[in-house]
Amino acid sequence: MPELPEVETIRRQLADSVVGAVVVGVEVRRASCYIGRELLSQEKIEKVARIGKYLFLHFESGRGFVIHLKMTGRMVIDVASYDKLPHTRVVIKLKDGRRLYYWDSRTFGYVKYVEDIELEHERQKRKLGPDPWEMSEARFFTLTSQHMRPIKNLILDQALLAGVGNIYANDGLWEAGIDPRRMAKNLTKKESDMLLASLRLVMERGLITGGASDNSYVNALGEKGSYQDEFRAYKRTGKPCLRCRKKLERIVVGGRGTWVCGKCQG
Ligand SMILES: [Zn+2]
Repeated sequence: MPELPEVETIRRQLADSVVGAVVVGVEVRRASCYIGRELLSQEKIEKVARIGKYLFLHFESGRGFVIHLKMTGRMVIDVASYDKLPHTRVVIKLKDGRRLYYWDSRTFGYVKYVEDIELEHERQKRKLGPDPWEMSEARFFTLTSQHMRPIKNLILDQALLAGVGNIYANDGLWEAGIDPRRMAKNLTKKESDMLLASLRLVMERGLITGGASDNSYVNALGEKGSYQDEFRAYKRTGKPCLRCRKKLERIVVGGRGTWVCGKCQG
């Protein structure tokens, strides 16, 4: 599933290439991937924003699109081959002739047309916690000390901390040397600070490498990222720990695959 670095990579590419462009029509190829009514007029794109894993295309009119890629969604700018792909679900047509393709093999994601994009933006913002860069050390420690649940479950909870999914949660916990099963409230201030810094570090690495394409993810230009070559713990079952060489184990925490070093994350 695309997480903050993957969605932010797409946001930056969209911002670079479609701000100022005019949407003239939408072709819906799979009804469940498009929410809201038809476009009634042309819409000039004013800005592209992101909260957590949600993308917001703000139109000058005050209307806009909210896009969530969920498991397997892609938003690709004018890569011609996408026009013929069976999993292309929504095609957004621009006045300059370009096309934005919403592609999704499992069809959990969507493009949603809303009448008031600012309102939708604010609504999502209230539902989601701050992302790791917006979160202060003090606030994060308050959060961890209040919760009697495994720390990994807490950092995956989008209502508390936005943008972190299974990849960066695993790698951040490994980076900080913290066992994912530890109860959040038992983390010391030093460990809590270290974890927040580690989440920022691995997500920064995710941004620099253009995201993780171990699964379906490609960026808005249709290209794969290379963060999958940088995995520290995620999906490294039986592979040597990059710090101590002990073999990593796969366990399950909160129903999700979890990878740990029994020595460094004791
Ligand atoms: Zn280790």
